[in-house]
Amino acid sequence: MNNWVDMLKFITDGMLGKLTRWLRLLGYDVEYANDMEDKKLIAMAKREKRILLTRDLELYQQANARGVDAFLVEGTTETERLANMAKKYDFPLEIDVTVSRCPKCNTKIKPVKKDQIASKVEKATFTFYNEFWECPKCGQIYWQGAHWKRITETLNEARKKLENPG
Ligand SMILES: [Zn+2]
Repeated sequence: MNNWVDMLKFITDGMLGKLTRWLRLLGYDVEYANDMEDKKLIAMAKREKRILLTRDLELYQQANARGVDAFLVEGTTETERLANMAKKYDFPLEIDVTVSRCPKCNTKIKPVKKDQIASKVEKATFTFYNEFWECPKCGQIYWQGAHWKRITETLNEARKKLENPG
């Protein structure tokens, strides 16, 4: 059912840290190649069949010349970039937590029982929220707190941009 997230794998260059976190949250496998030489980055994209996302025209052209699928990400805000990505790859701008990946380390997050994370979050958070997710790799705990509203607002805006470009 959720196979659509497994159809696309990306690799992002150092300028796209924010977009990387967004795409992981949406469920995509994104390798963030911060501080990686262009040659290595292109080789990795090719080896792992990842689509290269970049804002660097030169890197984009180099990737194309080496037969790597690349996308030149346009837009100055995350909203615009997300809208452009969704348009290009036709994916839904909605977060499905059953497929979400840890924005920090790209590992699939898992639901965790509330009593198991009592010592890991602040008391107010523990009191107010009942659903939590944990990253099995880096241990980060997630919940749909105040920041969640901003996340859904950004995605709503991106969807509107997609429907009414310009
Ligand atoms: Zn993690």
